[in-house]
Amino acid sequence: VKTKVVEAVNGVKIPQLGFGVYKIKKKEEFETAISEAIRIGFRHFDTAKIYGNEKALGVAIEKSLIPRDQFFITSKVWNTDHGYKATKKAFEQTCKKLNVKYLDMYLIHFASPHYLETWKAMEELYMEGRIKVIGVANFEIKHLEKLMKHSKIPPMINQIETHPEFPQNELHDYLKNHRILHEAWGPLGQGNKALLEHPELKIIAHEHQKTVAQVILRWHLQRGIIIIPKSSNPKRIKENSEIFNFTLSSEEMGKINQLNTGRRYSINPTGYIVNP
Ligand code: NAD
Repeated sequence: VKTKVVEAVNGVKIPQLGFGVYKIKKKEEFETAISEAIRIGFRHFDTAKIYGNEKALGVAIEKSLIPRDQFFITSKVWNTDHGYKATKKAFEQTCKKLNVKYLDMYLIHFASPHYLETWKAMEELYMEGRIKVIGVANFEIKHLEKLMKHSKIPPMINQIETHPEFPQNELHDYLKNHRILHEAWGPLGQGNKALLEHPELKIIAHEHQKTVAQVILRWHLQRGIIIIPKSSNPKRIKENSEIFNFTLSSEEMGKINQLNTGRRYSINPTGYIVNP
């Protein structure tokens, strides 16, 4: 994988292409997917306590015999671990499961109540060098405003559902203006056919001799967004990594921008299923 890096506001380098491990639960499937991803060069992995596979990810990383400092590992504080003390405890448990001494990135998974106290614990862990980049996920502008008003260190990244049908234009601009990185979850619309078989995208893909998935991922990259597509299929894992050798024209970017339907595929910031 020949990925670009983007810099957080504190200078920490983040590989712009990472690998998400949500819903890869079966042991064998997980081992195959992660070892294949590492083999072809993925070094950035996105997990969370709630995914239940931190331990398996730690084992896969250790098995690779590649030094820890070459990996970029993200995990997240789950809704039931909010608050100062609970967050510190959850962080230690996550490190233990992953078998690491520090995390490259730690995010608040959802803006549940008490996220200000949660953030205080994360700021301290950051100051102690236990977390290199601190951030949030699924935060809307109102949550970011509140967090920034009441904290010492502003969030460095926001991981939010983003894909051509739900491009997050307003939040994207807000993040840019506040020097907060935009990371997309569900970058492929969670594999939804409406997106992956979209005729407009098929035409663009054909032009570049690429797949629709590759075109979508490339669209994210050219918007400056960090992406963590998930796949447990070795062929697709490789496909998702081959996105640095072509460029979409501004006309093509414009066409993809027009696919915005406002349709989101998963959970909203308060944790309700919007469009299951
Ligand atoms: P995604 O958009 O990455 O879609 C994954 C699905 O797309 C796969 O299951 C597969 O069906 C399909 N797919 C993948 N590659 C393909 C290809 N080349 N061709 C055709 N189909 C392909 O969705 P996701 O897994 O939900 O999101 C990615 C990662 O984001 C997750 O694994 C997780 O780490 C993170 N995430 C975070 C949150 C959050 O609340 N912070 C929520 C969901 C996911």
